[in-house]
Amino acid sequence: MADRKPFVGGNWKMNLHGDEAVALAEALAEQFTATDKVDVAVCPAFPYLAKVADALGSSDIKVGAQDFYIEPNGAYTGEVSLSMLKDCGVSVVLVGHSERRHVIGETDVLCNEKVHAALEAGMEVILCVGEKIEQREAGQTDAINTAQTAYGLAGVDAEQMSKVTIAYEPVWAIGTGKTATPEDAQNAHAAIRNFVRTGLYNNAVADGLRIQYGGSMKPANAPELIGQADIDGGLIGGAALKADDFCGILNAAL
Ligand code: PEP
Repeated sequence: MADRKPFVGGNWKMNLHGDEAVALAEALAEQFTATDKVDVAVCPAFPYLAKVADALGSSDIKVGAQDFYIEPNGAYTGEVSLSMLKDCGVSVVLVGHSERRHVIGETDVLCNEKVHAALEAGMEVILCVGEKIEQREAGQTDAINTAQTAYGLAGVDAEQMSKVTIAYEPVWAIGTGKTATPEDAQNAHAAIRNFVRTGLYNNAVADGLRIQYGGSMKPANAPELIGQADIDGGLIGGAALKADDFCGILNAAL
């Protein structure tokens, strides 16, 4: 089994106005000591990306974007391109977060177009997958995860996969305080990795692929979750809004 460096992302969603976002970034830059043992990114709201990038300074914490549009420029009112994000210091993008799939209505086809556009633009991609509660109760967890993984990665070359991370985020666990048990999360991650190994790519891609867990991860439950063989860090919502909580999770990943 390859030695995978954990990757912890903070998804600030539509939270934290300018001063709050900058203050959190400054606190993280101060508390997080650069290390080659974990990769870290935070994803603020669009208007504060550049300010947060400035506040993070030379801290090694990457700046991520929660969304983008697939076209490079043009008549797409309200949208933001990948090159605009690059101008703001962004090097990581989320694709297919459950709130974009299930609240905004993004399809698997659009997610796949976004993965390609982001990789072509040289961004790192975090592709989010995960089942809803009724799908879990119907025993469809692995089927949903593998289908979203297959659609999301369709046409992506093995060589491009070094820039892709998958976030397994059971929809019922996001922002609810309910967390998958470490065993359930491990089983879902192992099934995704196995599918990447035997259904999509090969041993090298599967062994190198980082799969984050997301869904009410906190400093208290992070050690056991991240301690599972196939869980390589986390994508964090609520607990990413406080420096102490986020750093507590980072410590668990170290
Ligand atoms: C998320 O938004 O990706 C997430 C996992 O949120 P939370 O940690 O609040 O469940």
